[in-house]
Amino acid sequence: MNLALLSDEDFTGENRVRLTGRRLKHLKTVLRASEGRRIPVGRENGLMGEGEVLSLTDTHAELQIILDQNPPAPLPLTLILAMPRPKMLRRVLQTCAALGVKDIWLINSYKVEKSFWQTPWLQEEHLRENLTLGLEQAKDTVMPKVHIRKLFKPFVEDELPGLLAGTRALVAHPGRAEPCPVHLREPAALCIGPEGGFTDYEVGKLEEAGCTSVHLGPRILRVETAVPVLVSRLFDACG
Ligand code: SAM
Repeated sequence: MNLALLSDEDFTGENRVRLTGRRLKHLKTVLRASEGRRIPVGRENGLMGEGEVLSLTDTHAELQIILDQNPPAPLPLTLILAMPRPKMLRRVLQTCAALGVKDIWLINSYKVEKSFWQTPWLQEEHLRENLTLGLEQAKDTVMPKVHIRKLFKPFVEDELPGLLAGTRALVAHPGRAEPCPVHLREPAALCIGPEGGFTDYEVGKLEEAGCTSVHLGPRILRVETAVPVLVSRLFDACG
């Protein structure tokens, strides 16, 4: 937690917040904070700044805060991801939030196991929890939006062309002739397949909707690795 992300419920006054639970534990056990210590804070979907610890008890910490800095710029990227297995979903969501991806579409694909859609990690509170961890890691406040589409064909035929409009639209697919572009200076949309990859039919439909298929070299990467590799290749995200 390199920044404590504050929601409306944390505010006890205009410039006062009360932290409990995970963030209190982190303050005490990882940061070993005491009264007078200043820590980075940010208001969800708002400004970032600093909070001074006024008091620290077993149940809560009181902070006086000043919010005066903008969060980092978002990535101009729409990420369309075949639903990963639940354990991986959590890590991928955290990574996306940390990298500055703000628009995430979780879609079905032939090789996505049906049971993946039953995971509690897709519930609103859990999506928020994992996205918050990513934002706090990277020091950002802007909560990404996650859209869930459990039917591939209607999504690709009816919604995807609109999402791709005005973007450099790509589908990452091993073995294709064209390498993934680098250093984009324009908005992009990127489709990433499931553990077993998109089928030829699915790649055909994504291409029909406007995507160009690109490869990342001969090494086949896990989804959780492919996401940061592709994003930093496209946008110099770590630059
Ligand atoms: N056996 C699958 C295949 O050949 O498509 C591997 C799928 S890979 C584990 C999961 C997803 O990550 C792929 O669908 C693709 O979107 C992306 N990916 C991983 N490595 C890649 C590479 N070398 N080139 C392009 N995309 C890659």
